Order: sequence, then structure tokens, then C-alpha cells
Amino acid sequence: MLPALTHQQSIEPVVLDYLAALKDEGFAGDVETHYASRLAVATDNSVYQMLPQAVLLPKSIDDLQLLTSVSQRQAFGAIRFSPRGGGTGTNGQSLTKHIVVDMSRHMNKVLEVNPDEGWVRVQAGVVKDALNDALRPHGFFFSPDLSTSNRATVGGMINTDASGQGSLRYGKTSDHVLSLSAVLADGSRLNTQSLSPEELEQSAQKDDFAGNALRKVAQICREKRQQIEQKFPPLNRFLTGYDLKNAFIPEKDTFDIGRVLCGAEGSLGFIAEAKLNITPIPKVRTLVNVKYDSFDSALRNAPVMVQANALSVETIDSRVFNLARQDIVWNTVKDLLTDVPGKEMQGINIVEFAGDNPDEIESQISSLCRRLDALIENQQGGVIGYQVCEDLASINRIYNMRKKAVGLLGATKGAAKPVAFAEDTCVPPENLADFIQEFRSLLDGHKLNYGMFGHVDAGVLHVRPALDLCDPKQEA
Ligand SMILES: Cc1cc2nc3c(=O)[nH]c(=O)nc-3n(C[C@H](O)[C@H](O)[C@H](O)COP(=O)(O)OP(=O)(O)OC[C@H]3O[C@@H](n4cnc5c(N)ncnc54)[C@H](O)[C@@H]3O)c2cc1C
Repeated sequence: MLPALTHQQSIEPVVLDYLAALKDEGFAGDVETHYASRLAVATDNSVYQMLPQAVLLPKSIDDLQLLTSVSQRQAFGAIRFSPRGGGTGTNGQSLTKHIVVDMSRHMNKVLEVNPDEGWVRVQAGVVKDALNDALRPHGFFFSPDLSTSNRATVGGMINTDASGQGSLRYGKTSDHVLSLSAVLADGSRLNTQSLSPEELEQSAQKDDFAGNALRKVAQICREKRQQIEQKFPPLNRFLTGYDLKNAFIPEKDTFDIGRVLCGAEGSLGFIAEAKLNITPIPKVRTLVNVKYDSFDSALRNAPVMVQANALSVETIDSRVFNLARQDIVWNTVKDLLTDVPGKEMQGINIVEFAGDNPDEIESQISSLCRRLDALIENQQGGVIGYQVCEDLASINRIYNMRKKAVGLLGATKGAAKPVAFAEDTCVPPENLADFIQEFRSLLDGHKLNYGMFGHVDAGVLHVRPALDLCDPKQEA
């Protein structure tokens, strides 16, 4: 069992001295050391917990430069930071026993929207849904999606290279970053963008941390190109880590260190601001909710949906689905997912079509429905029925049900709770059904209950085995 965190876990003198020095230098943000503040950021959405010694809540880039440059003094060599956005990360990335720098309280503004050129400039602590609220009146949205969009910040999305529903078309966060303004460990500022060799030489002239980083990383990307290409998996979804593959584009001879900051999990610097490209909101959206006799059928049928030009295919297994059925949220969708007489619905695919041309969408949907009708008639593929929903309110109700159902997993009865530690399993989509079958045999072999849901179009599945973490045997 994880040890209980107590306020007796005291603050080291070096941290107190550092905080005092920071205030003397004019740090304008908040400095919090009381137990409640520290406890609030001692957990995220992972299985870990770490009590930090202090929480800093900067108000500006100047504050970030101050907190890093003061930490460079010899007396403060032991000071370490971890940036934090919404704290929705599932790997404990924002946790530290040192100092948490929370970007979400003050540095959360949308600074400039330019619909003509299709970009927005934001502070890194802005929450994804709040950003989309600001973009909606202009007819745009920030297209990389994630289930935690009402809490996750742009800084967190950049640092985990977040993506979600619609990723086959909309890509991941790094695909939309035009430039970043970051503060590195020594307080130097790094403004990123795609650079030609001449521009790179000019930008890398300074002998500070930022200048050195530019020179060194560009050199690695160029000289080790062959090894990098061999090593990086050919997946639509990238992983967290340093994206050396896409930082250097040999065909264009350009280098963008911003690409390496994306996915770096806060390990390379603080992202203060970002310029992001934005996507016009599609005029037409339609969902086809396909019902299956088993989860395996839903997985195996997903490639048909992708071939039908769907924007996204999301799936949930029977466990997650049944949790939704027992919850009040079911009332909002029961007309959109009616039972099929004589059949048991054990899996669904939520298939979205979106675009600006109503005729084109209509024809894509008709073609898919014809294929589904044939499968139902011939009792093939485990398809037992489908329902189409076209109005935005119904579409949102379906997606809300999916989001809620995932949350319900954590609130299951009994001591064993689904634990998020095999979170973003990812394989080429065509291998997903086989991969999951093996994964299920493994879990069944251990007599474990579990819930599964994910983005089948991209080959991504979240697997949450239920464990009683108060039982030392299960914890191990
Ligand atoms: C139920 C659930 C569903 C999820 N669904 C998805 C999904 O569909 N797609 C997906 O991609 N992820 C998903 N996630 C994971 C998580 O929501 C994302 O990783 C999200 O991008 C994290 O954002 P955050 O603001 O909460 O970051 P945090 O958790 O606070 O931090 C994440 C990392 O980013 C760093 N960081 C944060 N802000 C900054 C900054 N300004 N500068 C430098 N580093 C920074 C932190 O140090 C940490 O390493 C899900 C998580 C949960 C719990």
C-alpha cells in the first residue's frame, strides 16, 4: 500500500532559502508551502503520489525566467522543478518531491486569435475546452482532441503530444504547433520555429543553454538520421519522448527544436506560450453507432469504418458499456442506442463522419450503411444493428456517455478498482484485434476483471485491469 502522505514531511532548508530569495528578487506569482496546497498536487491520474515541498504559480514568462535563473545559484544546486498543467497525466509525469510549478492558475490566457491566417497564440496553462470556447465564435477549433479536454491544458498536451478522437485526420498536438516560447533550466528563453540551415546558424549563436540546445540537437538529428529512422516505430500516434525523427526534415532541410519539446514531459523546459494552427469547424457531422455481438467483433470490424472514410472510430467493451447502462447517463442516450430484439449488445463502435460538403458526407454514410445492412442480413462480422444520429445535441450525448463511462470504471464497487497502468497501448490498427485477444487471455489467465476502450482507428486501446492496491500481493 502507498504510504500516507503527512504534513510532517517537512520542507528542506535549501527550499525555504530558495523561496525567500525568489521573493526578494520580485517573483510576482504565488508561492505556496502549506500542506493543503502541496497535497493537492501530490497526485495526478496515475497510480503514484509524491508530496512536493512547495508549489509555485507563476504569472508571466518573467516569473519563469526568475524561478529558473535563481535556481542556478550555487547554493540552490539541489533545487528541482516539475511543471504541471491540469494534472490529468496518467504516468505521474508532473509529480515531484521537490517544487511543482503550476502553470494553470495564472498563465491561462488566449492571447491572440488570427482567423485569417488560421492560428492562435496562447499561454500554456489554458485548458483545451476554454481554448475551443474562445475559437468557436471565429468558426475554428483546436483539433487534437483528448478525453480530458475540460481539465487538460495546452502545456500538458504539448508535453505529452496529446491526441485522441479524429487523430487519423487531425493528427496529434505536435502537428499543430507553429512555435513555442520556452524557458530553459538556466533561465534562457527559447523561441522555436522551423528553421533553414542559415536561420539555425544565426539562432544558435548565443552561448547559453538555449543556443547550445539548438546546436547540439540539430547536430544529433542530422548525423544520427539513419539510426533514428530505424529506431522510431511507424505508428500514427507518437509516444512521449524526444521526437528526433520529426525535428529534422531532410527533404526540406529544416530543423525545428519545438518538435523535441513536444512530448518531452516537462523534462526540457517550461512552455510559456504557444502559437498553434487552428482548424475550421466542420459544417456537417454525423455519427453511425454500430452495435456488435462482441467486443472482438467491434475491433475486427473497425477497419471497414476507416476504409469508409470515417473521421474517427471509437470503441468501448461490454464492461464499460454496461457501466454506462447502469448509470443515469444512460437516460440521455437510450434512444440513440436501442436494444436489438433477441440479441445481446456486447460492443459498439462510434463512427463519426465530418466535413463541409453535405452531399459527400451523405454518400459516405449511405455506402457504409449498405455494407452494414449486408453484414446484418448475412449475419456476418458480428454486426447486429446500427443507428445514425445527425444533430449536434445527440452527437454530444453519445460522446458524453463514452467519457462518463470511462470515469465510471474508477467508481466500480468492491476493493478492486480498474487501475490505469497499461494506458495507451498502441499497435498498427490492423493488428489490434489479435493484440487485444492475446492481452485478454493474459488478463483472464490472472483471473482479472478489466475495462477496455479506445481509438480503434489509430490502433490505440486503454486497458484497465481491476486491482486491489491495498493487497500487497496484487500491488506487486
Ligand atoms: C480518463 C483519462 C483520459 C485521457 N484521455 C487522453 C486522450 O484521449 N488523449 C491523450 O493524449 N491523453 C489522454 N489522457 C492523458 C492526459 O489527459 C494528457 O496527457 C494531457 O495532455 C495532460 O495534460 P495536463 O494539462 O493535465 O498535464 P499534466 O498532467 O499536468 O502534465 C503532463 C506533463 O506535461 C508537463 N507539463 C504540463 N504543462 C507544462 C508546461 N507548461 N511546460 C512544460 N511542461 C509541462 C508536466 O510536467 C508533465 O510531464 C487521459 C487521461 C485520463 C486520466
